[in-house]
Amino acid sequence: MRKFIVAGNWKMNTTPKSGKQLVKDVLKKTKPENVKVIFGPPFTHLLQTQKQLKGHKGFFAAAQNMHQEDRGAYTGEISVEMLEDIGAKFVIIGHSERRLYFKETNALLLAKTKKAILHNRKVIFCCGEPLAVREKGTHFQYVMRQLSATIFKLSPEEFKQVIIAYEPIWAIGTGRTASPEQAQDMHFAIRAAIKKKMNEDLASGTSILYGGSVKPSNALEIFKQPDVDGGLVGGASLHADDFVAIIEAAKKTDRGR
Ligand code: PEP
Repeated sequence: MRKFIVAGNWKMNTTPKSGKQLVKDVLKKTKPENVKVIFGPPFTHLLQTQKQLKGHKGFFAAAQNMHQEDRGAYTGEISVEMLEDIGAKFVIIGHSERRLYFKETNALLLAKTKKAILHNRKVIFCCGEPLAVREKGTHFQYVMRQLSATIFKLSPEEFKQVIIAYEPIWAIGTGRTASPEQAQDMHFAIRAAIKKKMNEDLASGTSILYGGSVKPSNALEIFKQPDVDGGLVGGASLHADDFVAIIEAAKKTDRGR
């Protein structure tokens, strides 16, 4: 059975001190039970977060990015061996902000994904269309092209390590959320594509998260959709009460581990 996951992407927010408090508050207020909960802090406090989560079942830490090479003269970058060494099991790859501001191409994202998987990391791979594409009505083709150029090039064995996050760009940080039906339609299409490109087991076993202004007031309706297996949460993951409420909504769906 596929995992139900709530992952928080803190982006370039929090300090080691405030991040520590945020994790502490969440740990105090909820237990993940049937849901996997993932914190995605900045690199400066990833190790600290990892240490805080020791002994807390169902909680994990994720890196927000990594470099595709093993090591070398890449000033400012973080390698997969560094993530491995501190025990960070998950890494977010292909976030639309990385694609847009840091010009990360599909080819680069595939290289990063392959490297992460080679080192036994789990990849939260993001995809999603901009507003103009949604308005034109070509969003399914757009997302399929993103996936065909990246994770559909993996072997089925590699693909086992992938979690997909569908994040329509027009819904990220805008307060505008995809309707539960819009999310379900895309997730269904992605799952059907996994079946076609990989196999039936991977189609039913791959978690597909929705991301884009998930908050306590809309989480349950989105999470109830049969092909939505949780959320990648930005803004709301920075507030312990909101993040906890989203985790509680996920628990109510009674699906998962
Ligand atoms: C994100 O950046 O992955 C995201 C979904 O952000 P927000 O929840 O703030 O829209």
